Amino acid sequence: MLIIMQQGVSESVVEQVINRIEQLGLRVHISRGEFRTIIGAIGEEKPVYPEQLLSIEGVEKVLPIMKPYKLASREFQPEDSQVQIGSVLIGQGRCALIAGPCAIESRESLNETANIVKASGANMLRGGAFKPRTSPYSFQGMGEEGLKILRECGDELGLPTVTEITDPRNVEMVDRYADMLQVGARNMQNFVLLSEIGKVRKPVLLKRGPSCTVKDWLMSAEYILSEGNHQVVLCERGSQGFENGLRYTLDVGAIVLAKHDSHLPVIVDPSHAAGRRELVTDLALAGLAAGADGMIVEVHNCPEKALCDGPQALTDKMFANLMEQAKKVLTAVGKDV
Ligand code: PEP
Ligand code: MN
Repeated sequence: MLIIMQQGVSESVVEQVINRIEQLGLRVHISRGEFRTIIGAIGEEKPVYPEQLLSIEGVEKVLPIMKPYKLASREFQPEDSQVQIGSVLIGQGRCALIAGPCAIESRESLNETANIVKASGANMLRGGAFKPRTSPYSFQGMGEEGLKILRECGDELGLPTVTEITDPRNVEMVDRYADMLQVGARNMQNFVLLSEIGKVRKPVLLKRGPSCTVKDWLMSAEYILSEGNHQVVLCERGSQGFENGLRYTLDVGAIVLAKHDSHLPVIVDPSHAAGRRELVTDLALAGLAAGADGMIVEVHNCPEKALCDGPQALTDKMFANLMEQAKKVLTAVGKDV
């Protein structure tokens, strides 16, 4: 349930309410808005609780949260969230412009690609060290060695990094090297992984599963939020459609719906949706025009030599062109660039 405090109540009054909720055996999550504080109380409720909480001084209303996801809902937090990754802010008009190769392949190659994306204005660097591949015979990623390379390249260029985590046993390791933890589409409903990631205090990029609804996606976000990690950014990367000229079907409606029903920032991944580099730019622009708070795009210094997702990797020139156009779209929709 939601405990809505009266406007302008003091911190000590809020503290009192928190203590009472904890005594009732419920978990407290606080949303401090510009005008009022909303306290989310999550756990097994008894019918008398709303009345008891309403009688505390400073409490204006006690409401049930109607949505199955609670902390991810706009009911819990009406204002957009903002997530910070180093110097980069995502949400509330600020955008993440993330780019880099699908996989980290070598120091030289990542360094070259990182310089390319930075020169065009990317503000974060991506690169996978653990790759979830359809075939066990495909390149699986460089593992910890790759994480070290990503860390070094990010530090050299002043770009915060994001990398995928595929296994709950690796949370501690990936957390040591990366600035943001990516949950891939295939792992969106790996609930053990989500709970483990929720226990660390590192921003998370949660991709939407190819066959998952927006509600499923927000329920997965709830797994992370309910563990106390509130730094979640959603990423739409295309769902399973019937069109076979594209790798997946980018769902701009899902971006709009997720932003309507949730306060969490949403970014667009046009690369995995397209599967072909010549379609990436237009899909990225569509996602930004639909309200995405940024994008994550695959770029490679030499796509024909890429060990993973080469056909969808943008070249340096294509990425420069995308960034130029993206800035125009973001300006048109009122975002900071
Ligand atoms: C990736 O980012 O390289 C990736 C594997 O993405 P997804 O989980 O969306 O397929
Ligand atoms: Mn990829």
